[in-house]
Amino acid sequence: MSTTEARDGIAERLSRMVQVPTVSAHVEQTGAAPFHDFEALLLESYPLVHESLQFEKVTDFGLLFHWPGRTTGSPAVLMAHYDVVPVGDEDAWTHRPFSGDIVDGTVWGRGTLDDKGAVCVLLDAAENLLARGYVPERDVYLWLGGNEESYGTAAKAAVALFVQRDIRPWIVLDEGGAVVDEPLAGIRMDAAMIGVAEKGIATLRLTATSQPGHASAPPKLTATDRIARAVGRLRSNPFPARMPAVARDMFRAFSGGATGSMRYLLRIIAAVPWLGARVLASMGGEAAAVVRTTVAVTILEGGTAANVLPEEASAVLNVRIAPGDSAVSVARRVRRIIHDAGVTVRVEDHSDPSPISPNDNEQFALIAAAVTDAYPGTPSIPYIQMSATDGRHFHAICAATYRFAPLTMTGKQRESIHGIDEHVTVDALQRGERFYRTLIRSLPPTV
Ligand SMILES: [Zn+2]
Repeated sequence: MSTTEARDGIAERLSRMVQVPTVSAHVEQTGAAPFHDFEALLLESYPLVHESLQFEKVTDFGLLFHWPGRTTGSPAVLMAHYDVVPVGDEDAWTHRPFSGDIVDGTVWGRGTLDDKGAVCVLLDAAENLLARGYVPERDVYLWLGGNEESYGTAAKAAVALFVQRDIRPWIVLDEGGAVVDEPLAGIRMDAAMIGVAEKGIATLRLTATSQPGHASAPPKLTATDRIARAVGRLRSNPFPARMPAVARDMFRAFSGGATGSMRYLLRIIAAVPWLGARVLASMGGEAAAVVRTTVAVTILEGGTAANVLPEEASAVLNVRIAPGDSAVSVARRVRRIIHDAGVTVRVEDHSDPSPISPNDNEQFALIAAAVTDAYPGTPSIPYIQMSATDGRHFHAICAATYRFAPLTMTGKQRESIHGIDEHVTVDALQRGERFYRTLIRSLPPTV
């Protein structure tokens, strides 16, 4: 399919989406009006999608479109979210965050990358295919969530609906990875990073109590001592480093794009997993986060006066759980490492890591082929994502759940997500539309 089969005006359509401030964190104050406006805008911008696909709302914030295919059964679910995070200091932005300014082939504003850009290219692809009377080989669902950024329940409700209707998707594709130029610090290559899993997250609170009293004659072990000792023990006993098969595949792919000693190092990391896991763990930061469950002490509390022993002291741990661990196993290990009956460990909230979707199946190959069509010469590389997406809810009903928005994002652009000066190029939008169009056209029939 050539790009002439794409309708003009994709940048303008995204610009108008950006101009509707669908900030889910502010919905209590603003009410649902921006969300209704956004729905109305979609109706106006995508007449064929609304005419040809069956539409229903799931909760107040989820928009579900069903596109019947030639064969029935396990559909493709293509998803994105249309809510955005707040903008912070508007004056810090080069272009007003809700201006949707189009300047020199770039669309500016909150949501251009996360995730209205994906909403736009997905709907454009569907509209363009419908304009030619295209019928997909199997059912396609388009799912647009309106409260992903506020950890809302729309996606969960959609999954419940699928379960109730006994619909088991063949593939689910949500936001997550992108086409990047530096997939990991120090590794420069163009790559389409496809999230095959996401780490879990847990908040743990450690609490110790002791007799309050004057600080001039402290007992052997105060509440603050216990917490400090617990934190120290956790620090010197990090979670074991493990190299999942998908991470090996990722480093092998990176080695193909690296040169010199970096290439050599990446090859060793991929070839000798136990050694690779140790090397990465010792590097700290992003590299270590790939191979282990990480623990960050984010809040320390205790005491109110300089000369009074506190009655209670506590530490809050932000834990990012690697696939294979769970909140339960994390709490168990933390208790064992701390080894102090005087410190209680409570899991305040948690979301377990997702299972790992395969990267050697038909679904992954389909994504990779659509990437090649839209971004010639760009390899698709699997990775485990650090942040949470709505896609995690879909793992329960689909073993082939992937996270990738088909847009180019430089390092600077990635920083602008949830930051300032978020922007997307029109070239990326055109390629993204082409990605989805190819993907939908390549879906195999169910039988
Ligand atoms: Zn997002």
